[in-house]
Amino acid sequence: MIKIMAVNAGSSSLKFKLYEMPEEKVLCSGIYEKIGHEDGISTFKYGDKKETKILPLENHATAVDDLVKELKNKGIIENFDDLKVVGHRIVQGGSYFSKSVEFDKDTEDKIEKLIPLGPLHNPAHLTGFRAFKKIIPDVLETATFDTAFHQTMDPQDYVYPIPYEYTENYGIRRYGAHGTSHNYVANLVIDKYFNGAKNTRIISCHLGSGSSITAIKDGKCVATSMGLSPLGGIMMGTRTGDIDPSVMNMVVQVSGKSCEEVYQMFNKKSGFLGVSGVSNDTREVEDAAKNGNERAAFAIQLFTRRACDFIGQYFVRLGGCDALIFTAGIGENSAEFRANILDELAEPLGIKYDKELNAQIHGKEAVISTPDSKIKVIVVPTDEEVMIARDAFKIYEEKINE
Ligand code: ADP
Repeated sequence: MIKIMAVNAGSSSLKFKLYEMPEEKVLCSGIYEKIGHEDGISTFKYGDKKETKILPLENHATAVDDLVKELKNKGIIENFDDLKVVGHRIVQGGSYFSKSVEFDKDTEDKIEKLIPLGPLHNPAHLTGFRAFKKIIPDVLETATFDTAFHQTMDPQDYVYPIPYEYTENYGIRRYGAHGTSHNYVANLVIDKYFNGAKNTRIISCHLGSGSSITAIKDGKCVATSMGLSPLGGIMMGTRTGDIDPSVMNMVVQVSGKSCEEVYQMFNKKSGFLGVSGVSNDTREVEDAAKNGNERAAFAIQLFTRRACDFIGQYFVRLGGCDALIFTAGIGENSAEFRANILDELAEPLGIKYDKELNAQIHGKEAVISTPDSKIKVIVVPTDEEVMIARDAFKIYEEKINE
């Protein structure tokens, strides 16, 4: 029995979950938010306690320092020799990584090289990695990549039809994201609902503040909606998803904003927020729509159409579909969003679902299709951290058995 920490360093936050492995028992979890601010916030959950603290958080290293201290102060880890592995979630692994690896010097160099493709996240991952290395020098660190699961795509699915030298020389292509989540839910569904049959054709809908849809065949990703960055694919909380690139040109012209400013607007002010004018949070958009806000209602319709377009495309790509999975914030919790999508797919794909059951499912696993549905529809809460911990444990075992 060993302790493994799963770490998810975002652009201004650091989430962590401490596991006892291989039991997958969660000992503690929490988050550092507002990194880079004087009034940073830390939240720890352990046992039946939840503790929050305001503290200056200069950077991710300050957060890691405090995390290690607090784990000791709170008696969660008495002896750091028990903490064998720190597993990091990495947003951009480029074409280098198709599976989780030891976070050694070579991995560090490659993640550094990939900063242009992951400018917000990769530097934060590196700071987190280096901070742990400094405080606990003997700990094994591992890296689990959001992009790794999508490395099995064919070039026809990942190459953009731009002059080929940009693809070749700069690595400008589709990488996708949320791979750890799609991998987790697809594996669970294959094992639990299809007796481990790898040839199951799956369309996985990770619908949260960032959303992506992935087509999975033989347990492997064949196509995914996010692109070079998480801006591509379906509409999201604040992101546009796929649009004609000339929209960028035209908005630059009419707004007088720079290309960079418009790019930021497509990332941070578009999607549900931009269309509804209400919020990026779909709970608030749903409420506004119920209260008669027409643009909020339209934003929901637009999202539904975009999601169904990808599902239809992937149905063809897979030559059919055995299971449609809903996961992440919206997919797990919003019966209305699921119903909107399923109602639109009902006729073309022969999907039938239990409306009453769907309405009751919030954040728990359930098959919501009826037995006569042509496609099984399953809600599966995702768990990216446990995937990080599992991979970290596997790499640790391989290493001690070397
Ligand atoms: P991320 O991990 O990308 O921040 P999540 O997967 O946690 O995102 O999803 C968060 C989003 O899920 C929220 O912004 C909100 O839009 C949506 N969400 C969460 N709960 C509900 C709910 N009960 N009904 C509708 N939408 C929900």
